[in-house]
Amino acid sequence: MKSRFMAAVCAAVVALSLGVHAQGKGGAASITPAELKDWLSYIASDQLQGRQVYTEGLGLAASYIAEHLKEWNVKPAGDDGTYFQVVKVNGVNVTRNSSVTVTVNGQTKTFKDGEGVTFPANAGGKQTVSGQAEFVGYGLSLPEAGIDDYKGRDVSGKVVLYVGRGPKSMPAGGNRLLGARARNAIELSHAVAAIGPSIGGGFGRGAGAGTPAATATPPATATPTPTAAQPAAGRGAAGGGRGGANATLGDFTTVQRLDNKIPPQITAGDEFFDFIFSAAGQKYADIKAKADSQDAIPAVALNNVSITITVDADYTIVQTRLTRNVVGIVEGTDPKLKDTYVLFGAHYDHIGYQQTPPGQGRGGFGGGNAPGGCTGQQRDTPKAGDVINNGADDDGSGTVGVMAIAKAFATGPKPKRSVMFVWHAGEEAGLLGSRYMADYPEVPLDKVSAQLNIDMIGRNRCDEASEANTVYLVGSDRISTELHNLNEDANTSLAAPMKLDYEFNDPADPESIYTRSDHYSYASKGIPIIFYTTGLHRDYHYVTDEVGKIEFSKLAHIAQLVYTTGVKVANLDHFPARDNKGPRKGKGASGKIGS
Ligand SMILES: [Zn+2]
Repeated sequence: MKSRFMAAVCAAVVALSLGVHAQGKGGAASITPAELKDWLSYIASDQLQGRQVYTEGLGLAASYIAEHLKEWNVKPAGDDGTYFQVVKVNGVNVTRNSSVTVTVNGQTKTFKDGEGVTFPANAGGKQTVSGQAEFVGYGLSLPEAGIDDYKGRDVSGKVVLYVGRGPKSMPAGGNRLLGARARNAIELSHAVAAIGPSIGGGFGRGAGAGTPAATATPPATATPTPTAAQPAAGRGAAGGGRGGANATLGDFTTVQRLDNKIPPQITAGDEFFDFIFSAAGQKYADIKAKADSQDAIPAVALNNVSITITVDADYTIVQTRLTRNVVGIVEGTDPKLKDTYVLFGAHYDHIGYQQTPPGQGRGGFGGGNAPGGCTGQQRDTPKAGDVINNGADDDGSGTVGVMAIAKAFATGPKPKRSVMFVWHAGEEAGLLGSRYMADYPEVPLDKVSAQLNIDMIGRNRCDEASEANTVYLVGSDRISTELHNLNEDANTSLAAPMKLDYEFNDPADPESIYTRSDHYSYASKGIPIIFYTTGLHRDYHYVTDEVGKIEFSKLAHIAQLVYTTGVKVANLDHFPARDNKGPRKGKGASGKIGS
């Protein structure tokens, strides 16, 4: 491993001095399986120790990417003329003064944070949010499962209230669907706030250091969207580091601005719901009994019930840790359009190495049943003594994919708009790098036309041969129908089009893939995104996610698709229109969306 590393560095230095690689023709044809394999063989080597955030291995990966950007004459777009944007990860203590005031037929009652209602630790900046209350039963919209509590309702501008854990007919993956209720009410149905029950201790992140009493730690289900802990199995250092040498201080960890106004997602107890329903002439006890037995909940009209939410929290930063995004730009050719951008992204971090012997410590690292719904498959048996989570697919594949796209632009034809490449740090620890970039962008966000994110594009889902030409697209139609159609056109234009699968774009997707990688940080700011992935497999977040299992031809093919879509967007004379129609393409769907 060591000699390979030295060879790579020497090669880079030689190439730099001779400028040889800058002479290529660039474009999609310059994206080759051989080069992707060459780069990934270093990025996913044991040398880099699993590229966990805050580690030496991640630093080596950052330098390796930056050396290549320099070689291709990609312009540095980080801090102070470098390729690096420092990401500040803050541990924050909170002083809670928030409250919820309910007015029913002129009768008013105020519930303070911690007394009947619980705000997330990071409730965002101070604001007042008001709206009519709307009760939506279990608060679920899963038409495929025959469940739709939103049918015939318009909750836009209202405060949504829901109860319970769903009906008996809840599909698999129910807990994640329940956890997404508040977010979906706000994002998909345009409610101004959501109030639901705390659905059990199993969802909490535990009483963290300095957390006063259980009420102070909201269930993950109630965490506001932009700061929600990443629900992936392998949550890394930022959430899981408590108690170790890197112990996280503060009530919560965030990379985001603390004055961001976040639509309130609040949990409430029986006392709160009792007041709401009884004052409206309803018996909450009856509704609760039905919810507890998972029976159908009758529609209840909360006439003349209005809710005012006062978000008032003060924050004190008690710890700051540093990591880095890697950032470069290739400038566009059009004098008017070159100050606008198409963003390409992947995360270059992974989950590190196994610090305790097999069978101890973090549960996600054990063998046994494979994750990701690969039914009947088992984890591969690791080589003796293998403790490194190489992350060849997750997201070494995206890391080298974006490198290839950057090289294709830098050494090939330039589009009208500029293109920016971001290798995000700390995705595995909660989308740290992308959330930071979205709050402290290196180019103005209103100049960003779209963001194309790649996470895990080097495998076949569950290793099925029938998946060999399939790539999954998530989010392409949610913010901009036009962007979705541009990607479909780009695929059709390829010499060999791929099979584009929208299964994970379904709002009822139990894995909630849409919220689980870096594109979500940009989508949360209203920027149209497409997320490209080849899906999960039995080596996901395991020491066996290694270079030898990567399908490099497929990886190159997908990188060419992303490049081609990027070229189309970057040459468009307008931004892809943001019609915000939400997810329409789901399981079994294909093709463009008509106007
Ligand atoms: Zn990933």
